[in-house]
Amino acid sequence: MPHEFVFDCPACEVRVIVDADIRAAVLEDGCVVCRGAVDTGAFVPRSESAIGGDTTQQ
Ligand SMILES: [Zn+2]
Repeated sequence: MPHEFVFDCPACEVRVIVDADIRAAVLEDGCVVCRGAVDTGAFVPRSESAIGGDTTQQ
């Protein structure tokens, strides 16, 4: 299972699950939706979020 993150855009409030490769691309190119600048604070590890229905506690 690749490491996944929840991307929560600070500019347009889109919220999507991304993997490490997409995260790197978004950090470099900006938000995929609004092209706004993004920093690492816009990503949280998916395990810390209920998004996607995965609420398993470890
Ligand atoms: Zn955006």
